[in-house]
Amino acid sequence: LMMLTKKLIEIRSILLSIDHNETLKLPSIVVVGSQSSGKSSVLEAIVGHEFLPKGTNMVTRRPIELTLVHTPGQDEEYGEFPQLGLGKMHDFNKVQKTLYDMNMAVTEEECVSDEPIELRIYSPNVPDLTLIDLPGYIQIANRNQPQMLKTKIEELCEKYIREPNIILAVCAANVDLANSPALRASRKFDPLGLRTIGVITKMDLVPPEMGTAILRNGDYPLHLGYIGVVCKSPEAARDGSNMTNALIKNESSFFQNHHQYNQRDIQVGTATLRQKLMIVLEQSMGRSLYSIVDAVQRELEETRYQFKVQYNDRRVTAESYMAETMDGLKHNFKDFANRFGKPQVRHEVRAMLEQQVLNICAEHYWSDGKIADLNKASPDDIYWLYKIDLASAALTKSGIGRSTTQLVVDVLMSNMERLANAEQFSYHPKTRKQILSFTNEILRSKFLTTSDQVENTIKPYKYEVEITDTEWAEGVKRSVVNLEKELELCNQRADSIKNAVGKSKIKAAIRHVLDSDREDNRRQDRMQQLAHEGNGSSEELVVSSEDDDVKPFYNPRLVEKAKEVLFLRDRAMILKYRIAALKSRQCKTAENKQYCPEAFLNVVAEKLSYTAVMFIQVELLNEFFFQFPREVDDRLVYQMNRKQIQQFAKENPPIQKHLALMERKAKLEEVMDKLNYLVKRQADRHEKPRSY
Ligand code: GDP
Repeated sequence: LMMLTKKLIEIRSILLSIDHNETLKLPSIVVVGSQSSGKSSVLEAIVGHEFLPKGTNMVTRRPIELTLVHTPGQDEEYGEFPQLGLGKMHDFNKVQKTLYDMNMAVTEEECVSDEPIELRIYSPNVPDLTLIDLPGYIQIANRNQPQMLKTKIEELCEKYIREPNIILAVCAANVDLANSPALRASRKFDPLGLRTIGVITKMDLVPPEMGTAILRNGDYPLHLGYIGVVCKSPEAARDGSNMTNALIKNESSFFQNHHQYNQRDIQVGTATLRQKLMIVLEQSMGRSLYSIVDAVQRELEETRYQFKVQYNDRRVTAESYMAETMDGLKHNFKDFANRFGKPQVRHEVRAMLEQQVLNICAEHYWSDGKIADLNKASPDDIYWLYKIDLASAALTKSGIGRSTTQLVVDVLMSNMERLANAEQFSYHPKTRKQILSFTNEILRSKFLTTSDQVENTIKPYKYEVEITDTEWAEGVKRSVVNLEKELELCNQRADSIKNAVGKSKIKAAIRHVLDSDREDNRRQDRMQQLAHEGNGSSEELVVSSEDDDVKPFYNPRLVEKAKEVLFLRDRAMILKYRIAALKSRQCKTAENKQYCPEAFLNVVAEKLSYTAVMFIQVELLNEFFFQFPREVDDRLVYQMNRKQIQQFAKENPPIQKHLALMERKAKLEEVMDKLNYLVKRQADRHEKPRSY
């Protein structure tokens, strides 16, 4: 009963999944031999399938850690590459192809790599064994296989043939054993031959007398002896299915046909080899049991200590981390949604429209040369009546639906960016992107209907605006405030220019600008006069410009600044005058709206923003606030499978470290449990008298 091997192989797999730690090593059988010695054939005979890559171009470039798992009573046979996560592979041609690809991933320059390929084979026909296949020793370094490669292979093999591993030294019967690099390497690390098994292949190629002599080898005595095999099955049987039977039949008929091999001190046959490997590995495992128990115990204590010190025994799981992160997002979102209600939206929209009102006033009124006469105009002066309608249309027909909706979308987007850029997502750029992308999607899907709705509902204001006395009074008040703000901005800007340029310098430049303006005016007047008199000639005009003084040169940028200061000065004057007008009797009632365009436009803007916000709230905000958390659940939380959740958690390095330590601890505890059971069983067995 090879119970111990089976259990320890399981344990070995778990330990391998923690790390390739030197201290947690259980014995394995290492297969070494020259190229073409028949190494692959022996391994395949043991497994019963052709699965190793073949080819002349150094097809084994990495160690293959082969774990055979005996599955009694099961029909299926399959391979598995735990590192690749491809699942069960029932087709051994596919296993072969995969191994080939993984080996060929090592470049020609690198030659060999010591990073092992893990392969597990589950079958009712294999014994429980762990075998490590290594690149074959090469004899002579030829042009394509430089000396360095030879050394590299030797070093790789040396790394693996150390204790507690068992060395399977494969030599071909038709090659002088004295030349076997496998035996030479075994000599070096196992001088007494205590853990080396000699496998002599191709016994069919030498006469039986010579064959038996090799198997009785006295020059290189091995404690575990030599076993002769014939691992070449008749071609017909090589159809990819189980080839053991054909092979063994072929082999055993060979050995039966040659009576020389039928002697007690001679070991031959693949079946004998398998049996031998199982026994030797089991014994070796038994010897390693106590040292591995000690090693695992030490590792476990260290891990527990780390867990206590670093995390105070606090547990996390990928799921809990993920849930916490998403709860955090939803919580922050709720906070934002609560703070971003109608008043905030109205504030944003109104600020935008009021700015628009100021722009319209500046364009249509404050730049109008006749503005100073506005308060003295007749109530039915068509000029101003027409102007107020024009200004009002400039506001109501400016695409309010689009601009207000866009404004709110922009504000939402920037807030969502703030949420997505919160610290908790700094490790999850992909998730951050997803959050923004479905925010964008929701908002985009609402955009057109919202802006159309808004545009529709403000339509009446394009034709008529009814104003109550309170609304008017409010409008006047607000427009005074806005104009005062504008005035202050004007003054600030002028001051900052003056300060930047220097007071006297700007004064001089202003004087220069005014002088040349006056000069221009004079010239214009004169031209007009001449034209009026009807005897003006271009000659005279040219002559008239001759009397220009030579003016000091002014930097054009300074002139620009001076002009701006002058403009600001004028604008400030107009604003002061307009503020006074708004505060005057004339602007006490809405009937006189043409005298108070700022107030009137303000009232319209207020009505527009009130209506727009009402619909934006319903069509856009409420929908978004409702939908977003659901999208987070649907598209982030529920969409992720276990693996993706693990992936997500591992994006966060501190969490990953935490999880890794917990996993290590859990695995070591599992291993420790299994080991304790084995130790107890071994002790029980030794107490009982030997029954065989
Ligand atoms: P590796 O390079 O050491 O893996 O060697 P292979 O297993 O690929 O074998 C090399 C060659 O020897 C192949 O052509 C095999 O068919 C052949 N071979 C392997 N074992 C035997 C055997 O027992 N008898 C004979 N006659 N040929 C064998």
